[in-house]
Amino acid sequence: MNTPEASMVHGLKAGPKDLPALDRLLKQVPELLSRHGHQFVAGVARSLLDDLRSRALAGTLALAELQPPVLAQRLSECCAERLAPRMRAVINLTGTVLHTNLGRALLADAALTHVMAMMAGPNNLEFDLTTGGRGDRDSMVEELLCEITGAEAATVVNNNAAAVLLSIAALAGGREVIVSRGELVEIGGAFRMPDVMAAAGARLVEVGTTNRTHPADYERAINAGTAMLMKVHTSNYAIQGFTSAVDEATLAPIAHAKGLPLVTDLGSGSLVDLAQWGLPREPLPQEMLKAGCDVVTFSGDKLLGGPQAGLIVGSKAQIQRIRKFPMKRALRMSKLPLAALEATLRLYLRPERLTRDLPTLRLLTRPLADIQRLAGEMRVPMAEALSPRYRVQVQAMQGQIGSGSLPVASLPSCGLVVTPILSGKKGLGQALDELARALRGLPVPVLGRIHEDQLWLDLRCLERAADLLTQLPGLSQALRG
Ligand SMILES: *Cc1c(COP(=O)(O)O)cnc(C)c1O
Repeated sequence: MNTPEASMVHGLKAGPKDLPALDRLLKQVPELLSRHGHQFVAGVARSLLDDLRSRALAGTLALAELQPPVLAQRLSECCAERLAPRMRAVINLTGTVLHTNLGRALLADAALTHVMAMMAGPNNLEFDLTTGGRGDRDSMVEELLCEITGAEAATVVNNNAAAVLLSIAALAGGREVIVSRGELVEIGGAFRMPDVMAAAGARLVEVGTTNRTHPADYERAINAGTAMLMKVHTSNYAIQGFTSAVDEATLAPIAHAKGLPLVTDLGSGSLVDLAQWGLPREPLPQEMLKAGCDVVTFSGDKLLGGPQAGLIVGSKAQIQRIRKFPMKRALRMSKLPLAALEATLRLYLRPERLTRDLPTLRLLTRPLADIQRLAGEMRVPMAEALSPRYRVQVQAMQGQIGSGSLPVASLPSCGLVVTPILSGKKGLGQALDELARALRGLPVPVLGRIHEDQLWLDLRCLERAADLLTQLPGLSQALRG
């Protein structure tokens, strides 16, 4: 393109008549045709030519862009863009380990391998290999869930929202459910306890006040129309100060004296005590069952570290009612997450290996010194990639567990703080936006958070430094371009 003719062509504008016909363009890309087939390449070429035609009409198309090799290259890029998936891997440097917008828990290798093996061919999802008759998909995980939580029975559905909806509909449809006013949780999006109750066809009876509810409040509210008592773990907020709630162990005898079940929605559903690693403790399903709950619901992709799933454990009688309820069929888990869930739960049979084998616990228990060392290693290459426009420093920071788990607790962490180098205050926001956009535009987009006029990159969730380092040349280029 450095010949005098080329630079002359470069300055000239193309008109619609300069565009090649579709057939002629396709003849120039035999390799693309043989790789992708005629139909796909022709479709992409047609929309590329449409695009070029409107630019030619607007007088903004350079003749140089229509040179056969340039056009062939452009078509090849358009084909690649059309084939690139929308769902993409990203690098989570937000400091939030279980980030709902970034897909929550990462699956363990064991879960990934099991999914691959089970999805590649037929499996015994609903086939009993012992009797040769029909099986139940719940049986893939029920025994494991019972062993881990001490429950008599267990069933699984699409997510915990579905688990709550189904449990209420099956056990209390058309009747009353008593819940403390302090536990009428909104999880985010459309999941608000009063609305879920209505959608399940049950009547919500609120007792107590926002900050204080007593056993007598529940006792007074019980009547002939009551179907169950419900506790909701306030997973994403904390009520502090002059407070009082009735715990499950106190509430269970009150419910049982009237022949009513007690249901608890735990939300995050950690299956192991996080306190053993110095993390804040979350209530465990096994403790809720010991305290006398008849049904406990929790998520598969929060602290449990598995796929999206709603787990329901409890007494044989109540789980049977839930499993037999017709709505179960609409909310059932698909074989894909079920394979991942089974493999994830099996990891819990070896508790001492969890912080190695289960990514969620591995990241949550990652030693601070390890994150600090990584930040030290990354600072110079990062500073070089971002110089001269940005300064990079190592800094202590506070991360979060995320997904509404332990909302007031933070995770001491470490990372890089990137500050735009400017003469005045002007342009600061723009420089930060530009950097954030360049990071998002990388082949594997990198997501941090903007805080106090700086970009913070928390390194807790970066397990392979190379994932970021190999992208730094591209980042420099994006910021220069
Ligand atoms: C997260 C949460 C839910 C919803 O669980 P999903 O698995 O996201 O559907 C319900 N209740 C509580 C208390 C939660 O924390």
